Amino acid sequence: MATKGPNIREFQKRFPDEDTCLTHLMRTRYGERFSCLNCQKEATFYRVKNRRCFECEHCGYQVYPTAGTPFEKTRTPLRDWFFVMFLFCASRNGVAAKEVERQLGVTYKTAWRMCFLIRGYMGYVDGDTPMGGPGGGIVEVDKTFIGGKDKRGEGDKSVVLGMVERGGDVVTRHVADRTAYSVVPQIRKHVKPGSFIHTDEAAAFRSLTERHGYAHETVDHSEKEYVRFTDGEPVDTNTIEAFWSQVKRGINGTYISVSKKYLQTYLREFEYRHNLRHAPYLMFDCLLAAFPKVQLERP
Ligand SMILES: [Zn+2]
Repeated sequence: MATKGPNIREFQKRFPDEDTCLTHLMRTRYGERFSCLNCQKEATFYRVKNRRCFECEHCGYQVYPTAGTPFEKTRTPLRDWFFVMFLFCASRNGVAAKEVERQLGVTYKTAWRMCFLIRGYMGYVDGDTPMGGPGGGIVEVDKTFIGGKDKRGEGDKSVVLGMVERGGDVVTRHVADRTAYSVVPQIRKHVKPGSFIHTDEAAAFRSLTERHGYAHETVDHSEKEYVRFTDGEPVDTNTIEAFWSQVKRGINGTYISVSKKYLQTYLREFEYRHNLRHAPYLMFDCLLAAFPKVQLERP
């Protein structure tokens, strides 16, 4: 069953103005009641009129919920930030800076920077918990080629490795090339030993069973074999291939072209949406809660 994602009407209802956004940021970061840093008492913090802060009911100590976030030193209203974050969570194919420029009436530079920061945080929130394991789901591993001008060869294309646990999370890595030397260390890092791994017949995957202790099955695409069964489980790489289609629709359709330098950040944006696909509302709040915890490099 597909989960119904948030729509724009719900966004407007939930965040009608700047104050609602500020209160939501405060609650997401600190909760309803928490220990006051100054008087140490458990306290409710009330909004201070005309200021972007809340104060302790006992001692009047003030907390600014935007402190340490990208919202702190910007003239862009909080609601605009929320709106762009909402677009990132609700869209399937990504959000173009040009679209943000148009919707918010800000400069392209501002729009680009907002997108850059939000995308960076999406990758940070997502994290990369190792997947699979003997009791875990089957992990599909596959490589794909993204970008480049050369239509036929691999020439200037980027090689991306993807690992997805069926029914679970996806992890992608932009790797140097398609050799075992580049690919296997990433698999060992992200897929637990003893996992069931399904791949195509590419040479890079040949050592997975003998040398690295995985239960490895392959599907031979060159023989037009797309699915076969071992112990009742289909051997295929359909889940990761569906993910690649989504990424390519986004990168070719929305972003047009992505430089190698930023490719991994874009990939992480798609990972984030995939990994939180069953919790569209949580997607937004997780992102919001992450903002103060990490300082990203500014573009
Ligand atoms: Zn206090």
